[in-house]
Amino acid sequence: MDYEVDRKTQWIADELQTLQESGLFNQIPVIESAMGGRIRIGGKELINFCANDYLGLANHPRLQQAARDAIEKYGIGPGAVRSIAGTNVLHQQLEERLASFKGADACITFQSGFTANLATIPALVGRGDVIFSDRLNHASIIDGCRLSRATIVAYEHNDVDDLQEKIRQTTEYGRRLIVTDGVFSMDGDIAPLPAIYEVANEHGIMLMVDDAHGEGVLGRNGRGIVDHFDLHGKIDVEIGTMSKAFGVVGGIVAGKRVIIDWLRQRGRPFLFSSAMTIPDTAACLEAVDLLESSGELVQALWANAKLMKAEMQKMGFDIGHSETPIIPLMLGDVKLARQFSKELLENGVFAMAIGYPTVPEGKARVRVMNTAAHSQADLEEALGTFQLVGRKLGVID
Ligand SMILES: *Cc1c(COP(=O)(O)O)cnc(C)c1O
Repeated sequence: MDYEVDRKTQWIADELQTLQESGLFNQIPVIESAMGGRIRIGGKELINFCANDYLGLANHPRLQQAARDAIEKYGIGPGAVRSIAGTNVLHQQLEERLASFKGADACITFQSGFTANLATIPALVGRGDVIFSDRLNHASIIDGCRLSRATIVAYEHNDVDDLQEKIRQTTEYGRRLIVTDGVFSMDGDIAPLPAIYEVANEHGIMLMVDDAHGEGVLGRNGRGIVDHFDLHGKIDVEIGTMSKAFGVVGGIVAGKRVIIDWLRQRGRPFLFSSAMTIPDTAACLEAVDLLESSGELVQALWANAKLMKAEMQKMGFDIGHSETPIIPLMLGDVKLARQFSKELLENGVFAMAIGYPTVPEGKARVRVMNTAAHSQADLEEALGTFQLVGRKLGVID
């Protein structure tokens, strides 16, 4: 790419060039169809294993209708930030319904899961305080921690003994917070939340979990990780997103009422950035309705994931140690992972290669995101393609 640059912006063009040359430049595929189990890219139909649309709600007729009805009644935009322009009745309903769905005291919504983390962490801790953070936590947690100016102490991934040790070693602090992802999206493993809770409780430390990949996936009818481990009332604050299993967009913070009320006063993305749009809010309300009334989609998701895992393992693939519908197809070498993804694409399957720095060096993989939107025919066809590519590249016999 030839950019028009001058002396002060030349360095950006150089950086972009370096990314291009090292194969790390992010090319974003353009999707020409609705989201779903099959999508169209470059005029070609592909079976889709890239979306976090776990339940196929991103293009669900009931969510579409709810959004249309709400637009007819309330329009589209929220007007301004809620603390200044007031809040639409749908925002209020959604927060009440989400709190009740998740079995939490109260809930507040944000524009996204990312902003929910940026709002919550700096509202709970600041300079002179300390955060104990799982080494593999999501980027939005890391940024929220940095923004808070608290001291960040990383503990080894899912290692409760190391967490204990780090807490013992840290003697200078004001307030303390433990924060962890619920489901880790690169490996599909689940945080040992009951044990982390015991530690937090023993030391009197605030506990926060980010349930972005557990929402709509874990727990009864997709109520999330707190429900999965039956820890209701024990986790101080839970972050979530409506951009994954809920199929829309928006952030969730659920938990103790005192924290939720505090975020309405001190959560900066709440005070200084406008709310979710009307159609988004209405569609999310419909998603809650749908989940509360039936576990069918959650069951379909798990059944699809179980079938994919079993068949891939039978074929001889290393699929890591996922406990969720995420399948990391472990390939090791990043070039091999990229080649694998490219060959899949040429054969009608869309699954992304992931390498360093998103995962450790030598642990590159193709990540297979299962959803309830895949039909049996989609899965059978895709499995055939995985086997074909796996054999061609010498990954399996
Ligand atoms: C995806 C994700 C987010 C961001 O959610 P958005 O709503 O897309 O901003 C935050 N935390 C975790 C753990 C995630 O996986």
